[in-house]
Amino acid sequence: MIMEVSTGEPFEPSASPLQVALRQLNIACEKLGLEPGLQRIFANPKRILTVSVPVNRDDGSIEVFQGYRVHHNVARGPAKGGIRFHPQVTMEEVIALAMWMTWKCAVADIPFGGAKGGVVCDPKSLSQGELERLTRRFTSEISIILGPEKDIPAPDVYTNPQVMSWIMDTFSMHCGFSVPAVVTGKPLEIGGSQGRNEATGRGCVYAIQEAAAALGLKLNQASVVVQGFGNVGSTTALILHEECGAKVVAVSDSTGGIYNPGGLDPRKVLGHKKRTGTVTGFTDSEDISNQELLSLPCDVLIPAALEGQITRENAHTVSAKMIAEGANGPTTPEADVVLREKGVFVIPDILANIGGVVVSYFEWVQGLQHFFWSREEVNEELRKRMARSFSEVYSVSQEHRVDMRTAAYMIAVRRVAEATRIRGIYP
Ligand code: NAD
Repeated sequence: MIMEVSTGEPFEPSASPLQVALRQLNIACEKLGLEPGLQRIFANPKRILTVSVPVNRDDGSIEVFQGYRVHHNVARGPAKGGIRFHPQVTMEEVIALAMWMTWKCAVADIPFGGAKGGVVCDPKSLSQGELERLTRRFTSEISIILGPEKDIPAPDVYTNPQVMSWIMDTFSMHCGFSVPAVVTGKPLEIGGSQGRNEATGRGCVYAIQEAAAALGLKLNQASVVVQGFGNVGSTTALILHEECGAKVVAVSDSTGGIYNPGGLDPRKVLGHKKRTGTVTGFTDSEDISNQELLSLPCDVLIPAALEGQITRENAHTVSAKMIAEGANGPTTPEADVVLREKGVFVIPDILANIGGVVVSYFEWVQGLQHFFWSREEVNEELRKRMARSFSEVYSVSQEHRVDMRTAAYMIAVRRVAEATRIRGIYP
């Protein structure tokens, strides 16, 4: 099915991530006055691979899972994007996430196109052995489009360095030699990069620091609320608390949230979550729902869980001065309108969470060169790139009097459009 260019009609609040992504693209294309032909190219993924993944369960039965790998656009370089294991994964969602990867790589100005993968499964219900077999078979099924010059996966929701190791090993077994640059987010022992595991959260903090400086907000006096206490959310909370002196007043995960207006210690919350599997029930805090959490008064709100969290329905209840989107697609376009009217400064996902793909780029380069950098070098280079991207987006937003999301899209779409024009349409 070829996606027609979005008409810009308002749509329902239940809009899918793909509708949201197409609407955001449409807004940027209108601002840029982009040729409809190029917009039509960008509205459609380059390729979609759908695979079925049979797995031997521990009880002797065979289960078949559905998986996807989508390449949205490779005009600026090999396809890059994470792999998600989640029961609610759909092909449409993976297309939207792949499209966002194209824009993120362009905002970061790194030589990658956009990809994403997903398997419809509940990893919490799988044993470690089942998870390994699922990962290896999925990798084998999509290996026809993977490779250091073709497509380089990375972690996303409910996938981690161990999963990346199985992907690297499976691909390498097919080749007969080790191919570390086929995947990023690997452990250090097999060619991972210093700082990759915390890169998305750290990059998000660097973006928040830039925004705080632009807005005159003192982070050491700021209160912070974080939705989602996984890789991105917990790292952002830890660094804001320990390195910036910010007060983290609330955090949540899929089971609910906790709140203490006097401040939580994110490291202790992390210990509690490791022990009990949830943030709820933490001492010295009150349990709250994820909805209540999004409405808490605070300086910085960080959605770091899933898409579609801040919508037309609840945007008016947001009481934060700034939102930094650690997650992909947490805010719908209608919510953006409400937030703009309320004067909330939004650092959009395609800027706020690019730290992960930026350090993935460093990891890929290190893997290709077999020459590794120190943690200090990685973090310093990440800081420079986050500052540069923030400043470019902020300048466009000031110059064109548009919000930060539209400005980021304008930069990204312009860069991908330019690459497409220079390369031409084959044949
Ligand atoms: P993760 O699996 O490590 O953590 C996800 C967290 O969200 C978990 O704590 C989970 O309990 C929580 N969660 C799930 N559903 C929730 C809900 N309905 N309400 C509140 N919390 C909920 O995943 P992650 O890698 O931290 O990814 C989080 C977000 O960041 C995703 O949108 C992902 O696409 C995005 N992202 C991740 C990276 C990366 O490098 N890992 C990079 C860029 C963007």
